[in-house]
Amino acid sequence: MRVKCLLCDEVESINGSSLQAKKLRSLRTFFYLCQTCNERIGEKTKVRKASGQFREYREKKKDPYIS
Ligand SMILES: [Zn+2]
Repeated sequence: MRVKCLLCDEVESINGSSLQAKKLRSLRTFFYLCQTCNERIGEKTKVRKASGQFREYREKKKDPYIS
């Protein structure tokens, strides 16, 4: 069966008789993340857990078109 990644819209085919496919069908919603996104989210979660207090620092970008 073919599944579409929720984040990057990449279509992958997974084994229709696999546990993952059964889960997806039973939920009736295709909450699927491709391998890449899955790993990316996994990494983020790991980092967040490891650092305890996680603060995101965003640098403010100056708009070059406004002087
Ligand atoms: Zn993806």
